[in-house]
Amino acid sequence: MSRPDPAAALNGMRTGNVCSGCSKRVRTGDLVRGYVTHYDRDGWVLRLLWCDSCGDTTIERGTEGADEAVIKAVYWNHRLAGVSVLDRNLPGDQP
Ligand SMILES: [Zn+2]
Repeated sequence: MSRPDPAAALNGMRTGNVCSGCSKRVRTGDLVRGYVTHYDRDGWVLRLLWCDSCGDTTIERGTEGADEAVIKAVYWNHRLAGVSVLDRNLPGDQP
C-alpha cells in the first residue's frame, strides 16, 4: 500500500500558530516542527506543532503505531512551507 509522501502532502497545509510544548505563538518565518500521522480516512494530519525550541526530531514519545512522521517546516501565514521529513515510522516497524 503506498501512501502520499508526508512532505508533499503537508506543504501548504493550514495550521494553528501555538506551540504544543510551550504555548508560545509562532510567527511567519519561524522554523517549526510537527508530529503528523496518516490514517486512510484522514490522510496526513498535523497532530502537534512545536516552535524551534520545543519538540522532537525523532519519533520517541506519544506514538500511535500508525504511519507517522516528525517534520520540520517554515511557518508561513498560517501554513506550512518547505516541509521536510526528519523521522518516519511505518506501521509494522515496531513489535
Ligand atoms: Zn515551544
